[in-house]
Amino acid sequence: MSSATDALNRVFGYPSFRGEQAAIVQHVIDGGDALVLMPTGGGKSLCYQIPALVRPGTGVVISPLIALMQDQVDALRTLGVRADFINSSQDLDERRLVEAEFVAGELDLLYVAPEGLGTAAVQRLLDRGKISLFAIDEAHCVSQWGHDFRPDYLALSMLHERWPDVPRIALTATATPATRDEIATRLRLTEARHFTASFDRPNIQYRIVGKNNPARQLLDLLRTEHAGDSGIVYCLSRASVEKHAEFLSSNGIPALPYHAGLDARTRAANQARFLREDGLVMVATIAFGMGIDKPDVRFVAHLDLPKSLEGYYQETGRAGRDGMPSTAWLAYGLQDVMQQRRMIESSEGDLAYRRNAGRHLDAMLALCESVTCRRAQILQYFGQDAPATCGNCDTCLAPPESWDGTVPAQKLLSTVFRLHKERNQRFGAQHSIDILLGKRTDKISRFRHDELSVFGIGADLSEVEWRNVVRQLLAGDFLAVEPSHQTLALTARSGEVLRGERKLLMRREAPRGSRSGTRSSGAPSATTKAAPVDLSPEGTALFERLRNWRAATAKEQ
Ligand code: ADP
Ligand code: MG
Repeated sequence: MSSATDALNRVFGYPSFRGEQAAIVQHVIDGGDALVLMPTGGGKSLCYQIPALVRPGTGVVISPLIALMQDQVDALRTLGVRADFINSSQDLDERRLVEAEFVAGELDLLYVAPEGLGTAAVQRLLDRGKISLFAIDEAHCVSQWGHDFRPDYLALSMLHERWPDVPRIALTATATPATRDEIATRLRLTEARHFTASFDRPNIQYRIVGKNNPARQLLDLLRTEHAGDSGIVYCLSRASVEKHAEFLSSNGIPALPYHAGLDARTRAANQARFLREDGLVMVATIAFGMGIDKPDVRFVAHLDLPKSLEGYYQETGRAGRDGMPSTAWLAYGLQDVMQQRRMIESSEGDLAYRRNAGRHLDAMLALCESVTCRRAQILQYFGQDAPATCGNCDTCLAPPESWDGTVPAQKLLSTVFRLHKERNQRFGAQHSIDILLGKRTDKISRFRHDELSVFGIGADLSEVEWRNVVRQLLAGDFLAVEPSHQTLALTARSGEVLRGERKLLMRREAPRGSRSGTRSSGAPSATTKAAPVDLSPEGTALFERLRNWRAATAKEQ
């Protein structure tokens, strides 16, 4: 038996390595550098813990999760591993003790915060002991495009220069080819071998629904499918976190808030309760979740659109780490698109930053708007092959009706064009839709927009459908939101749609017949049904539930 397997059995009590773990562990034991891309819950920790036990010296782990260091170290100590940490939460005496242990070679693992490693004091300390390896956990924190960016991670590029003989292993669950390359470059991991585990999480059911009354939609989901379950609800703002935590609590669902505006003690207490108790719902901003190892999170719900597919994948990945069926549910509406576009446009970042943020958002929007398998799209985004249908996402379980929105899209774009060209005016989505629907609102009379040639030419669609058209035009960058006033404007790509070079396939949100709008004469838009997939009995039951649920929420609109 190899010493690695021996450590796995004896220290951790596991019979065998999972997936790529064995190869990674051996590579690092042999002194090689490694870049490990493995989804949340995949088992990244063992990839450096075992080599640290097998190689002589202390494994130095750089982790941004100061709040969790104590827990991680405690867990290792109960297994008999000699572990400790250095961070800003310690007093001087504690710190001296850890330093003495390290210098005396009495530690297998030493956890260090990234800001610590940048200091001369810690660097001098490390020179006085023997280091077996450096492990850089949550390595995507070095990426400026991710939402977890930590400037202190940039300084970690010096590890290689200062300790050229010490093997380094960087680990992350965020892994598009672009992020991977960025990590490798910034951390100077040019010689590192790349290990990529499968990013598929087959037990997670991906569902994205049109947003109308998100609090109510969420409550329905929890009551009908997740009564008594633990879960996480992500919101964009602190205010929204507070509001929804209260809303759930007052409706009999035990919920706690978590965001950076709460004091550290409340945050720690809420996190501890979530980890310890069953059936608690954590309503949180994205400040919550990194490194949280709670196996039985049964659902992750998003009430607002994530900024990127990386973020979405990371956050939804906190569901179902125990491999049992779990739900990733996202409510998504036109306001989300407008808001995110506006946030990017008005951000402090330079042009390159805004372009990149825009591309990340586009990928997320494409997932929301698509009529194909959600899982296939996610996996393709992460550069992995995937079958065309997964059988466990909303698209596969209840194939959405799709309809050709090209002509309506052209009408919408010409409305924006005419308002600007003929009147030198810009308006938001709602007013443009009102013009197309031929509504006689005060605003329309005031601006005499009922005299426009486009007035009423869109009465064949419902308001919901029009919002869908605007959303998809924004998603595809065929239409832009002007940041200061939220007005619509054409883009460099609008011409592709206006000239008919681009066909827009729309995902229908609610079954036909339950739509609120009236159809006048005129050609109805073509409706096609995506090919159904074979359904298991569970699948059929879920399909029914989804259909009923869709019909019910459509009525509420
Ligand atoms: P990650 O850091 O990739 O999110 P962790 O290292 O926290 O994942 O591991 C997730 C869970 O899987 C932990 O509870 C861990 O003990 C367990 N685990 C990891 N590797 C194995 C293995 N080879 N056999 C059994 N359980 C494992
Ligand atoms: Mg981890």
